[in-house]
Amino acid sequence: MAIRNIRTDGNPVLREVCKEVPEVTDSIRRVLDDMLETMYDKNGVGLAAPQIGIPKRMAVIDDREGHIFKLVNPVITESAGEQISDEGCLSVPGYAGKCKRPMFVKVKALNENGEEISFEASGYLAVICCHEFDHLDGILYKDKAVEFGRTDK
Ligand code: ZN
Repeated sequence: MAIRNIRTDGNPVLREVCKEVPEVTDSIRRVLDDMLETMYDKNGVGLAAPQIGIPKRMAVIDDREGHIFKLVNPVITESAGEQISDEGCLSVPGYAGKCKRPMFVKVKALNENGEEISFEASGYLAVICCHEFDHLDGILYKDKAVEFGRTDK
């Protein structure tokens, strides 16, 4: 495994609509492992592939409450409710903000073995899912933030 460089706001790869992964291969699994290691190195709770310069539909999540996911081609199939989230992004360092997000989402994806999985997420985990999957469509949380500013002020 290896720690990859995180691309930051202004890098065009963060604005790409990422391509679906046609097949979960060993090289895809290696990228997922690297993403998880890179996320842990930066104390993140989620990381999307474009953040390490790969415009493919992959994300990793660890909400630090026991929910760890390596997701390929994730989609939100249902959402409900509303919450105002506290968010930051490893690709937008030095800033934080709040977004309006669903309270509950249902997610469908492939896991690292290429098997179809689905799970339900609520609260903070729902926020992480929405944030990471937005990355796969070239969207940063600051685009939809209801509050956004420097963390050092
Ligand atoms: Zn982010």
